[in-house]
Amino acid sequence: MKGMMMHRPLNIADLITFAAENHPQGEIVSVRTEGDIHRTTYAQTAGRIAQLAHGLKHLGIARGDRIATLAWNGYRHFELYYAISGIGAVCHTINPRLSAEQMTYIFNHAKDRMLFVDTTFLPIVENLRDLLPTGLKVVVLTERAHMPDTTLEGVLCYEDVLDGEDTLFSWPEIAEDDAAGLCYTSGTTGNPKGTLYSHRSTVLHALYTCVSIPRPLKAGNRILPVVPLFHVNAWGLPYSAPLAGASLIFPGGGLDGKSLFDLMDSEKVYSAWGVPTVWHGLLNEIGRRGRLPDGLKDIVVGGSAATRSLIEDFETRGVNVCHAWGMTEMSPLGTQCNLPSALADIPVEERMQRKQSQGRRVFGVEMKIVDDAGRRLSHDGRTPGHLHVRGNTVTAGYYEDPEASAKVFDDDGWFCTGDIATIDSDGFLRITDRSKDLIKSGGEWISSLDLENIVMSHEGVANCAVIAVPDPKWEERPLLIVQPREDAQPQKEDLLSLLGSHVAKWQLPDDVVFVEELPMTATGKVSKLNLRKQFRENRG
Ligand code: ADP
Repeated sequence: MKGMMMHRPLNIADLITFAAENHPQGEIVSVRTEGDIHRTTYAQTAGRIAQLAHGLKHLGIARGDRIATLAWNGYRHFELYYAISGIGAVCHTINPRLSAEQMTYIFNHAKDRMLFVDTTFLPIVENLRDLLPTGLKVVVLTERAHMPDTTLEGVLCYEDVLDGEDTLFSWPEIAEDDAAGLCYTSGTTGNPKGTLYSHRSTVLHALYTCVSIPRPLKAGNRILPVVPLFHVNAWGLPYSAPLAGASLIFPGGGLDGKSLFDLMDSEKVYSAWGVPTVWHGLLNEIGRRGRLPDGLKDIVVGGSAATRSLIEDFETRGVNVCHAWGMTEMSPLGTQCNLPSALADIPVEERMQRKQSQGRRVFGVEMKIVDDAGRRLSHDGRTPGHLHVRGNTVTAGYYEDPEASAKVFDDDGWFCTGDIATIDSDGFLRITDRSKDLIKSGGEWISSLDLENIVMSHEGVANCAVIAVPDPKWEERPLLIVQPREDAQPQKEDLLSLLGSHVAKWQLPDDVVFVEELPMTATGKVSKLNLRKQFRENRG
């Protein structure tokens, strides 16, 4: 028997319409490329989104067209998210830190019709001019007075596109499974791969996030996404924050510890979201000033593993840390590690252990771990396996890439994340490695993340990575690469003895190498691919 309820399509435009009606005074504060701070509200923004939607229509944008953005976190980028998807086109965010080769591939693979670009990134586009899709229309995200000189032809000014347009727009009915957004993963092997989000997946993701990370996502709270709008929709915050009525504080290009501290302090940011690298920078600044930014109570950290020292540094200062795990292909949220109330009073040591895990699944995401043959492994917290997921916010295949798509689903249709993990009987997920980064020594897996976590607790270590190097006897052996803190000179013997007090002898790295700076990927993670290439011959 069928249920007898209405079926209304889930639609992204409804989120901003709702926010404008229910949280009209919710703020969007942005550090602009023009150099000043801009303030607006959800109510005013809804009007500008309508103007932009009219502007896009007048420029001939039709349903399904891909519209690229190359921009920092700011109100104009936010407006693009809603106006593009709202008229049924696809908002394609591009990571400006990608290589020219990757970016060229992405533009042409997506066949973008328009590009909205911050003044900061215009030189990138000028350099690629002959390699971009023909007819690509470029709009610079600024006002007339700040239009830069450019060698590109026919470039438009963003504020001109909105100027004089109606502040009301009658949003069209769009099928909920129509495409709304597109984001490519940088991919360490092969070409970048596109995840094509739908209206439905995006709205559900916003709802799931509000339910799963409720502490910051509340009306009146001020949230700062350091995580960029150009990568995985800033973890969905442009959708979940307005839905919850939380204000958004956009930092523009100022992502160093000092700039973030100042902005958080003056804007009384309650919660900030970003990758561990960013928090290390902020913690340095907090240490230097001997205080927290005013109002800071909550940090969400993900994208790569949060170390114990990072979690402890914040929590001992009274800031709650929510460690989250996810992927571009999952919209991205998969798990989050706010402790359930039953564990509120556990001893500090156990709390730290738990908080280092990636936490428990969010509603709507199912997880399993399997062995090499695809057989399910038990959730005993000890047995690592390949992590597979499924759910309404998980990709069903890469955009126009059947070859890549064919490799990432198991026989039952679950998405193979490429992560190696354990899950315990309480449902806590612990990522131990990426399958491509795995260290397999004498048939046994060694967790690079566990070793890195221990090394990061050494006060002389700014960052580190453990990688596999080929070994004639053991197949692979771990190598520890360390970036010391400024003015510190950690010793190899000390680091190995620190590790030795936590792990079995055979898991100890064969050697320790010190580098000035670890190579990073476009999304702010240590690039183990580069390290493996560089240190292939290092046998201790
Ligand atoms: P990219 O590598 O292009 O940035 P994603 O942002 O989608 O792509 O990266 C997803 C991967 O990042 C996950 O599969 C996992 O390996 C890693 N990751 C994300 N969050 C965490 C976390 N909290 N702990 C450990 N690894 C994480």
